[in-house]
Amino acid sequence: MENECLFCRIVAGEKPAEIVYRDETVVIFNDINPHAPVHLLIVPTKHIRGVNDLEEADRGIIDAMFFRARDMAKKFGVDRSGYRLSVNVERGAGQVVFHLHLHLTGGWR
Ligand code: AMP
Ligand code: ZN
Repeated sequence: MENECLFCRIVAGEKPAEIVYRDETVVIFNDINPHAPVHLLIVPTKHIRGVNDLEEADRGIIDAMFFRARDMAKKFGVDRSGYRLSVNVERGAGQVVFHLHLHLTGGWR
């Protein structure tokens, strides 16, 4: 856990968030500034700064992030209508929180 990291603090329960799923590997919560009717953030419990910082040992985490994304798409009813999974890598691409996360957006009419 990195004290200065917003998502570590949410994972640790030190900062509130609308958590919709949690297990030992990932925590999933509503984005505070949603860009779509459904906008979830799929966040590993382990602090990883971003995609560039992934290690071979993190394969299981990436695996879990995608499988839980699939589950949440179904739970929130966007699995058939369509959804987007996206990751911003570094500032030039819009990453502002430097703790790896997958955006799940969907639910457009
Ligand atoms: P990124 O631009 O990929 O780093 O995405 C960071 C996301 O975190 C943005 O979509 C923010 O709206 C979201 N965010 C920032 N603070 C919070 C928070 N306290 N709770 C939930 N989502 C947040
Ligand atoms: Zn963190």
